[in-house]
Amino acid sequence: VGEAYGTVELGGTKTSFAIAGGVDELTDIVTVSTTDPEATLGRVVAHFAGRDLTAVGIASFGPLELRRRHPNYGMITATPKPLWGHSDVVGPFVKALDIPVAFDTDVNGAALGEARWGAGQGLGTVVYVTVGTGIGGGAVMGGEAIHGLGHPEMGHMSVPRQPGDIFEGVCPFHGDCLEGLASGPALAARFGTAADDLVGAVLDDARALVAHYLIEMSANLVYVLAPERIIIGGGVGGIEGLLDLVDAGLVARLGGYPGWPDHGGRFVVPPGLGSLSGLAGGLILAERAATSL
Ligand code: ZN
Repeated sequence: VGEAYGTVELGGTKTSFAIAGGVDELTDIVTVSTTDPEATLGRVVAHFAGRDLTAVGIASFGPLELRRRHPNYGMITATPKPLWGHSDVVGPFVKALDIPVAFDTDVNGAALGEARWGAGQGLGTVVYVTVGTGIGGGAVMGGEAIHGLGHPEMGHMSVPRQPGDIFEGVCPFHGDCLEGLASGPALAARFGTAADDLVGAVLDDARALVAHYLIEMSANLVYVLAPERIIIGGGVGGIEGLLDLVDAGLVARLGGYPGWPDHGGRFVVPPGLGSLSGLAGGLILAERAATSL
């Protein structure tokens, strides 16, 4: 009998959770709306209670306090999401289940999942970026998700504007950072319609615009982290044909410096695990929490 782990992907709009020993056992997934912390986390804890779990791994929207010795470890910190600012995520699980509970960003979780079972298999250094309601990125380097003072906030990097783009940007903190210019809300504000509903010539314009910004992002990531692959997911990231433009445009953007990685395949790719990347990452976090004791 293998281990059973609880895995949670806590998202800004919905929360998914499951009990599994590995990614191939992620079949019985429960998804609920993310309401307030008490009701949402309580629902997950109730599902896990009495199930003889070894550990729990949580991949959560942020920002998060991940420094273990910090008094606020395990909490979501200064999120603009109503009701969730400075809320304890790890605490309710530890209190109710009394087993190891691991915690990381949703995108670090997805990067871990993709590196082990998905589009980054066999590679030690991969970046996972989600482009949707927000833009966030996680990186696995040498098999480990990276943190430091907080965690990477790749979605808030600065990117050169597409020539002629005078849109002011929607990021409440920075205005025209990457997220401010190319996230789903940015597209909605630019084109007056939800990103999902873009069609025809407007969709072509949106695709080209987002591609420009993701090419600039990818060039920055290549030069800062030297990843072996960049995996792009999320609702906007899934726009048909977008990643073809980014993959081809990145090669041109790098201008031949440095050399190009030889994978015999593509460098900018969609998630290999589809929508399961985050939950897969939660399993890896749980497994590590269990074995680090
Ligand atoms: Zn920003």
